[in-house]
Amino acid sequence: MHTHIIPEKLPRWTEQFGYGNFIHLEHHRPGFARMMQGGRFFREIEQNCWDPELRISDYQKFDTQVQVICTIPVMFSYDAKPLDCLEVSMFLNDHIAEICNKYPKNYVGLGTVPMQDAELAVKELERMKTLGLKGIQIGSNINDKNLNEPQFYPIWEACERLDLAIMIHPWNMMGKSQMEKYWLPWLVGMPAETSRAICSLIFGGILEKYPKVRFNFSHASGSFLATIGRVEHGFNCRPDLVAIDNPINPRDYLGKFWTDCITHDARMLEYVLEMQGSKKVCLGSDYPFPLGDLEIGHFITEMNLPESTVEDIFCNSTLEWLNMSKEDFL
Ligand SMILES: [Zn+2]
Repeated sequence: MHTHIIPEKLPRWTEQFGYGNFIHLEHHRPGFARMMQGGRFFREIEQNCWDPELRISDYQKFDTQVQVICTIPVMFSYDAKPLDCLEVSMFLNDHIAEICNKYPKNYVGLGTVPMQDAELAVKELERMKTLGLKGIQIGSNINDKNLNEPQFYPIWEACERLDLAIMIHPWNMMGKSQMEKYWLPWLVGMPAETSRAICSLIFGGILEKYPKVRFNFSHASGSFLATIGRVEHGFNCRPDLVAIDNPINPRDYLGKFWTDCITHDARMLEYVLEMQGSKKVCLGSDYPFPLGDLEIGHFITEMNLPESTVEDIFCNSTLEWLNMSKEDFL
């Protein structure tokens, strides 16, 4: 339920819009492209980032049929002018919908929306629904604003109404500029970002206001589950700071949202399963990026888990999160 894809060709948005550092691709040698952010090198990607048929054959090596695809978070463009972000979002959503329609047994799509402008975001949610996309991927914060902010309420309301799932992906990592060395934004910042998103949504009472929204948090919920004892203790010992918008204990929300299994650690996954229940843990890979699980959950098959637990992780949880059924892929 967690893979990233990008179109092989992107418009030159920086030139078109006349500002900013939008991503473009330089295909400098066969099978490889440089993602450029304005004039700056961001990262090198390979053909498996844009070639849907190559991705299907890659997945077949690990007996996996379906990929839930979404864009790469650097494409969110939340800091752009809202209408420009809408244009970028529509381009990316059309591309994802096209792949899902061409290979309906292999791909399910999540869109992206201009979160900085709820009105435009809702408009695009309505449009993407007609394209057949099943949900959206959004950032763990929106231009440093936390997800409990009232400006996002119309987006949660629309996802409920349109039956669209939500995947929260870490990005725009807190403290990034103070810890560039050793890849710390990815290793330390990302897990913290995901916990930031979950805590903001819980303490802000969003899961109470919009109980039908189906949230899924990347990377096994980041540091949230590992620190639930501390989060709960904080809620109990300083309710004046923590319980100001929602009186419900954060532990009560375990098992009420989805998360993926990307732990790279069997014992950690056992703990995640204990906290969440197997019906809320999905097979995620973060394919095709090297920090992901590029053996697509192979370690799970060696954990001696009950067959029903493995089946939950490998398909049932994701199907329920997307409100789809196995028959959709047979
Ligand atoms: Zn990812």
